[in-house]
Amino acid sequence: FKQIVLRERPVADILPDTFESKTKAFDELHVGKSQALVQVTYISLDPAMRGWLRDVRSYVPPVKIGEVMRSGGLGVVVSVGEGSKFQKGDLVQGGFGWTEYAVADDKSMEKISPPPGTTPLDFLNTLGMTGMTAYFGLHDVGQLKAGETLVVSGAAGAVGALVCQLGKQVGARVIGIAGTSDKCAWLESDLGVDKALNYKSPTFREDFAKVVGYLDVYFDNVGGDILELALSRLNQHARIVLCGGISAYNDPQPKGLKGYLTLIAQRAKMQGFIVFDYTDQYPVAVKKIAAGLADGSIKSKFHIVEGLQNAPSALPMLFSGANVGKLVVKVSDE
Ligand code: NDP
Repeated sequence: FKQIVLRERPVADILPDTFESKTKAFDELHVGKSQALVQVTYISLDPAMRGWLRDVRSYVPPVKIGEVMRSGGLGVVVSVGEGSKFQKGDLVQGGFGWTEYAVADDKSMEKISPPPGTTPLDFLNTLGMTGMTAYFGLHDVGQLKAGETLVVSGAAGAVGALVCQLGKQVGARVIGIAGTSDKCAWLESDLGVDKALNYKSPTFREDFAKVVGYLDVYFDNVGGDILELALSRLNQHARIVLCGGISAYNDPQPKGLKGYLTLIAQRAKMQGFIVFDYTDQYPVAVKKIAAGLADGSIKSKFHIVEGLQNAPSALPMLFSGANVGKLVVKVSDE
């Protein structure tokens, strides 16, 4: 069966020879005590993967050269080792990596039972890490309240699209920022944001000032120039949620922040967060978001790429904006 391993650390953009495909024989696998063999069905592609390719100190160790590329995924249990709590046929999620089959420890994966009105794939999006990032970033870090102005960058992406919708549920005025007119149209017509702005438009800076005025919460997925611009438009006690900074992920020498002095003048707060710190509270958020998916008040979109072999060329789509919705790779049939 096929696996994809890290061949070479990219210096800037991910390149065709960053990864390579390997074949592994089933007889090399050993399903030990409290382990299970999983056939992977879908893998999640996430901007954070670019960070895992960098040999630096972070919240997780880097992926090693020659190691199977790390990723979250869904799968089906094919066989179990002695004492495993799983059963053949169980639907599971875990960090299986870029592989068609994986031997996983019981404690490294979780059985999933999609609530009514949801699908297993939702666990790679709104009911999984992506959704939890939007929910806790907005509510816990951002402390968004009704009547406030929320600005979201990367708004048509997986995290951003949910942040926009949760913002509307709170009763905020929501302005989304995205990179194409189609994405902006989707945000306004389907997700109900008050206004969507295209950051590639030549009039973006003026549009931002005119439409936003001043903001209370800025949910940042991109960093760079858009963060600088948002910092120049803060209301007093604004909160800047540092979720991601994708504009700098491929940059070997990202430049520093210049416009931070407004944080002082406006007594504003800028805070980074990592979604895994909220693991204990996931069930509450999953329940609420699942109810929204079931009654149609929360919408989500997937961008599905077929075949594990296409994962290396699909990952860079996150950095060019070619993905429309949550980017996943279909590895095998459910
Ligand atoms: P998305 O689905 O949002 O895909 C990435 C999008 O980013 C692209 O579609 C593109 O959209 C936009 N983008 C790419 N390059 C740039 C750029 N230079 N300037 C502006 N926009 C750009 O990915 P996710 O929803 O999975 O992730 C969104 C963010 O959330 C990422 O920064 C990620 O690292 C972060 N994150 C943080 C977590 C945490 O715990 N803190 C956990 C999970 C995710 P467009 O067409 O609009 O340019």
